[in-house]
Amino acid sequence: MVKKIELNKRQETILQIVKDNGPITGEHIAEKLNLTRATLRPDLAILTMAGYLDARPRVGYFYTGKSSAQLLTESLKNIFVKDYQSMPVVVNENISVYDAIVTVFLEDGTLFVVDENLLLVGVLSRKDLLRASIGKQELSSLPVNIIMTRMPNITMCKKDDLLIDVAKKLIEKQIDSIPVVKETTTNGYEVIGRITKTNITKAFVALADEDL
Ligand code: ADP
Repeated sequence: MVKKIELNKRQETILQIVKDNGPITGEHIAEKLNLTRATLRPDLAILTMAGYLDARPRVGYFYTGKSSAQLLTESLKNIFVKDYQSMPVVVNENISVYDAIVTVFLEDGTLFVVDENLLLVGVLSRKDLLRASIGKQELSSLPVNIIMTRMPNITMCKKDDLLIDVAKKLIEKQIDSIPVVKETTTNGYEVIGRITKTNITKAFVALADEDL
């Protein structure tokens, strides 16, 4: 919280320098004022304690009002898929819709469908399965590859992608889950993880707990 305290002229000047140039080191502020770092120390301490400025090791001083948004952006650019991905649920393309439904009950969420070489060929959401079940088909003899969303229409991501970019894809494509894949030498994709809305929620909560 910013407490309203009277700032002296030098403190006002420092505040303005940090607003214009932050993040900036104490050394650089001192240089701009033709003063020594030691002379400025009490002023910087007051500005920091009063909540006008904050300091970060190796980054320097920044104006709190302006920089929290900047810092959030900075943090978002440091969160990768590999930091939050979870275990995928994978089924073979020849299993029946009936067995896929049983798998959804045992596991959780969207199923990723793979061929005999374990390469990604499709995606099965809960509604895909629900839709098939209200039809007149025999579910235990209907293979999932008839009803799944198939390649090349699958939205995928890689472990080194930024989590924020994957979150944007979830929204843009209106889907709940994206497989994390690794390209194979045969131009196929192996499923090594998944990002769901739950993973994004976890990252969101962790951001709030992060000491900015
Ligand atoms: P639900 O259908 O249960 O609401 P989704 O919103 O995730 O779940 O899925 C909507 C549709 O998009 C489904 O037909 C599903 O097969 C397809 N889908 C889901 N995830 C992906 C993905 N990563 N890439 C392409 N299509 C997907």
